[in-house]
Amino acid sequence: MHTRDLAERTALITGGASGIGLACAHELAARGAHVVIADRDADAAARAAATVDGEAWVVDLSDTRALDDLTRDADILINNAGIQRVAPIEDFVPDDFRLIHRLMVEAPFLLVRAVLPGMYARGWGRIINISSVHGLRASPFKSAYVSAKHALEGLSKTAALEGGPHGVTSNCVDPGYVRTPLVEKQIADQARVHGIPESEVVQKVMLTESAIKRLVEPAEVASLVGWLASEHAGMVTGASYTMDGGWSAR
Ligand code: NAD
Repeated sequence: MHTRDLAERTALITGGASGIGLACAHELAARGAHVVIADRDADAAARAAATVDGEAWVVDLSDTRALDDLTRDADILINNAGIQRVAPIEDFVPDDFRLIHRLMVEAPFLLVRAVLPGMYARGWGRIINISSVHGLRASPFKSAYVSAKHALEGLSKTAALEGGPHGVTSNCVDPGYVRTPLVEKQIADQARVHGIPESEVVQKVMLTESAIKRLVEPAEVASLVGWLASEHAGMVTGASYTMDGGWSAR
């Protein structure tokens, strides 16, 4: 059931052209929000924006110097854009590590920094950070991703403490493996580093820790994001909501 409870709100969604971000765009638009899709993929961003009657902002969020002086207005910020690289630490390409930290830690910080003044002026804001079960737990061969998501959790909690007196909440959403292109792209890499066939990666690597043996659907993540953006979640801040099929219960 959808109400248009987010009418009058503007939502900025990074990485909104695909996967979880695209599902969030649909969820928030269905609830009445005006959606801005920030993505480096111009064609996909334009297509996604058209489906939600929103707008596209074509931007490479790993070029963080260009975001230093950004001014941008949004009532809801979804820090979602992310990538993955899978390799043992001793083989991990240093520039890949830096890229992941620019895109998944520095850019969220700079976007929060850019939108907070407007949120504070209006006395209302929602920062929703798409973290991961890897914001709370580690897995081998994901040093950059796991450390970036742990940093995002810290940024989110700090923003919660600073934003609280101004009506701004900040939370993390922490899914297990979600059925998106990001996961499909890493199956070959996971097979290689774990020395198993690609056909066994989902069951033997991705779902081993999970009590529920299936991938999360993007729409399930988006429904939690929609609730966190709503008035009902006004007292929820500094929290990390897992949607990991029980992985982090271990
Ligand atoms: P995806 O690959 O489907 O979509 C990511 C989007 O980010 C793409 O549209 C891509 O163009 C955009 N993007 C990538 N680099 C960018 C850049 N430099 N500048 C601007 N946009 C850029 O990925 P997804 O699976 O939907 O992941 C979204 C978020 O969810 C990520 O932060 C990811 O870490 C997190 N997450 C994913 C899973 C999963 O299993 N898929 C699980 C937990 C958390």
